[in-house]
Amino acid sequence: MFSNQELSDIKNLLQPDKEIVIVTHYNPDGDAIGSSLGLKHALKSAGIEATIVVPNDFPRFLKWMPDSKQIMISEFKRKKVAEILHNADVIFCLDFNTLSRIGFIGEWIARSSAAKILIDHHQMPDEFDYVYSDTTIPATCQMVYHFLEAMGWESNISEDSARCLYTGIMTDTGGFRFRSTSATTHRIIANLIERGADPAQITSDTWDTNTISRLHLLSLVLSRIELIKEGTVAVLWLKREEMERFGFEKGATEGFVNYGLSVLGVKMSAFFMEDIQEDFIKISFRSKDELDVNQFSRSYFSGGGHINAAGGRSELSMEDTIQRFKEIIEKENF
Ligand code: 5GP
Ligand code: MN
Repeated sequence: MFSNQELSDIKNLLQPDKEIVIVTHYNPDGDAIGSSLGLKHALKSAGIEATIVVPNDFPRFLKWMPDSKQIMISEFKRKKVAEILHNADVIFCLDFNTLSRIGFIGEWIARSSAAKILIDHHQMPDEFDYVYSDTTIPATCQMVYHFLEAMGWESNISEDSARCLYTGIMTDTGGFRFRSTSATTHRIIANLIERGADPAQITSDTWDTNTISRLHLLSLVLSRIELIKEGTVAVLWLKREEMERFGFEKGATEGFVNYGLSVLGVKMSAFFMEDIQEDFIKISFRSKDELDVNQFSRSYFSGGGHINAAGGRSELSMEDTIQRFKEIIEKENF
């Protein structure tokens, strides 16, 4: 948590007449959108308005969240976002820890004179003016809750705020399953339910939203799962042309990589997917226990993330990328 001095500085910065901006990462997920909206709604209860800026669009299954329509999507509103960031007094950076994770707006933020406040749970954060980084906490939404508590603002967690914070904790813990899910996480979840978050509604609106095209894509990807390194590493892949054929929608491949990890004996799963817009391959890594995919992705695929969930990229073709991955894996010691 921030020190008492920092909390008091932050309280002074968060005045109603200041321009407060909340920014989160590229390809925003449930925790990114949940923490941004959860914080925005809590600030609103304290009489402080904030604007949320994201680098690019986010999946439809997150758009049920209150005020999600007001989020500024930089790829669609470049000029407006440039102006907002230029005029900002305070920028909250949520659920990412390096400006390279937020695309072209990273440069604008670097140039902005605003006070930058980081709240994040990824490995190895860059420097910001105020840093609350804790890699043992499963979701940034949980950290926003701790932050509001430390500010003495728990009572500002309105029903809208609670619903958003609940969502990010649910998605980033894989439905309260991953190792970092703690008793504290569950206590916070209980408090959020008491403040109005409805588990059945949130689960249903976020997760029970499969389209037929997503299921067809999933069946294609599952049909060709390959196991390597004596059945300990799963490889999955999908090409742009295939996504287009099935009517790809943003977020449609979310969670595919986890199927690889669910295979008995598998310790690491890698999902390779051609980007729908640009010419590169986006990679998702998942692992179990001590196998560190954050380090793996940093070393070989210009990425990063958490120990058991990380992302990376490759500029090679799909065939060459997978070939290179297999060669690296055969040499790795695990
Ligand atoms: P996903 O595979 O779901 O895209 O990402 C898994 C985790 O790794 C997420 O927490 C995400 O923020 C992080 N991540 C994904 N791609 C990158 C990347 O290219 N660089 C870094 N540093 N982190 C990433
Ligand atoms: Mn997160």
